[in-house]
Amino acid sequence: ASINEYYDIAFKVMLLGDSAVGKTCVLVRFKDGAFLGGNFIATVGIDFRNKVVDVDNFKVKLQIWDTAGQERFRSVTHAYYRDAQGNLCFLYSTSSCSLCGKAWLTEIHEYAQKDVVIMLLGNKSDMAAERVVKTEEGEKLAKEYGVPFMETSAKTGVNVDLAFHAIAKELKHRA
Ligand code: GDP
Ligand code: MG
Repeated sequence: ASINEYYDIAFKVMLLGDSAVGKTCVLVRFKDGAFLGGNFIATVGIDFRNKVVDVDNFKVKLQIWDTAGQERFRSVTHAYYRDAQGNLCFLYSTSSCSLCGKAWLTEIHEYAQKDVVIMLLGNKSDMAAERVVKTEEGEKLAKEYGVPFMETSAKTGVNVDLAFHAIAKELKHRA
């Protein structure tokens, strides 16, 4: 895809969630179809990546923003929420702290603009042996907040394309 790839409509999507849940890896998987294991990009992050997806023969460009580790400093992210005009895609890891997700979703509701589209993703679904957050817990949390939910794996790629297509579809339908 060239830098000038044709599109009909564009949206900004911000990836949010605790450090190390896999935000950067999910974005790289979606954009490049690859998995960067280890801690290579963990502390760096990338700014954003564009990808055009097809929604009912309509070209939707997603400009997906990563965080460069600001998630470690909560005060910085409050401004980040306020500025988000497209979609907030919140990630948690199915293999760590089960309460993290809830704290972030509460913050999103407190700081984000009201019309923002939110999606909940439980990443690292491939790590079955280390799982601490059950699928049902993610589903319950998503239901409580009325947001779509999917479990993903940046490592195997499962549901990553599907999740961003769902986001593109939702944004297109709301536009
Ligand atoms: P971020 O801080 O949220 O951006 O997290 P990263 O994308 O840097 O990932 C943190 C660590 O988790 C890295 O060591 C990744 O290789 C690993 N990781 C990310 N996604 C997955 C996944 O879906 N499955 C597995 N097994 N590991 C993952
Ligand atoms: Mg990162």
